[in-house]
Amino acid sequence: MFELMVEKTFDAAHYLEGYNGKCSRMHGHTYRVQLCVAGPNLDPKFGMLMDFKDMKHALNSVVEQLDHRILNDVVKFQPTTEQMAKFFYDQLLPNIPKNVTLKKVVLWENPTNCAIYTPD
Ligand SMILES: [Zn+2]
Repeated sequence: MFELMVEKTFDAAHYLEGYNGKCSRMHGHTYRVQLCVAGPNLDPKFGMLMDFKDMKHALNSVVEQLDHRILNDVVKFQPTTEQMAKFFYDQLLPNIPKNVTLKKVVLWENPTNCAIYTPD
């Protein structure tokens, strides 16, 4: 089994509506998002599972929706790190080739806290 991962950082603000704590106030994060794909077979001609260029293009297309925005204005749910990781997964899935599995999305909200979304 082969796995590939690419990552990108972006800046965004959010607040957790109704939350009892300081995260209810608007604040910003420099998020780091990692996209991980997996599969057993490499392209026989190039020896690649998936082109890193295509992975980065897929990831950029989601990041561009969120970078330097207020996440609450972009999504229709509470923009916790967990739910934003699933948002990335759902947005990325159509852009992943059928012969490759979108294994997980890891979303870091700071250097020490991350949420990981994998399908059931
Ligand atoms: Zn936050």
